[in-house]
Amino acid sequence: MRLGVYGGAFDPPHLGHLVAASDACEALGLDRLLWVPSAVHPLKAVRTAPALRLEMVRGAIAGDPRFAADDLELRRTGPSYTVDTLRALRAREPGAELVFLTGADNLRDLPRWREPDEIARLATLAVVSRAGETVPADLPYPAVAVPVTRLDVSSTEIRRRAAAGQSIRYLVPEAVRAVIERERLYGGLSR
Ligand code: ATP
Ligand code: MG
Repeated sequence: MRLGVYGGAFDPPHLGHLVAASDACEALGLDRLLWVPSAVHPLKAVRTAPALRLEMVRGAIAGDPRFAADDLELRRTGPSYTVDTLRALRAREPGAELVFLTGADNLRDLPRWREPDEIARLATLAVVSRAGETVPADLPYPAVAVPVTRLDVSSTEIRRRAAAGQSIRYLVPEAVRAVIERERLYGGLSR
């Protein structure tokens, strides 16, 4: 059983995440992909409450049997370290081969993460590379490159549009848009 682990702030999750996750499942032959929203991102300030990010992830992936949301980082106190997450998953699913999915930008930072050697030992590293993007040749750890469909959308852009009162339709799943609207996230009225 090959178990993918897709970590991120998911503030909010968007169609870029979904198409990348789907392409990665096929390319890597994953049986399941766990979406793991990070509690306190050690290298990044996250603003939206964990419970809402989890609700948005659940809404985004609903109906795709390959995907599941996992709140193990949200149930821990303190920062989310990938190495702790991979250790916990290894303990919970001893038979699974773990595949840790991340963007090339992220993986370049890996040496600054806690226990990078242990991360590389616990999981196969897979780098999501969007069409036209080159996977850095100087990666510090061996990683499988996964070509994915390029959708030019980011959480930053969704937050910017919501704050400016612009429509975020068709960039996020309807379930995600509904939460953003209900909770008035990102400082604006989303349409
Ligand atoms: P932000 O704009 O706040 O940085 P983001 O859109 O990059 O957010 P994250 O939650 O940081 O979203 O992303 C989680 C993972 O998804 C990261 O590894 C990131 O590289 C990847 N990712 C983000 N956007 C896309 C996209 N459009 N296509 C493929 N992968 C993406
Ligand atoms: Mg990002």
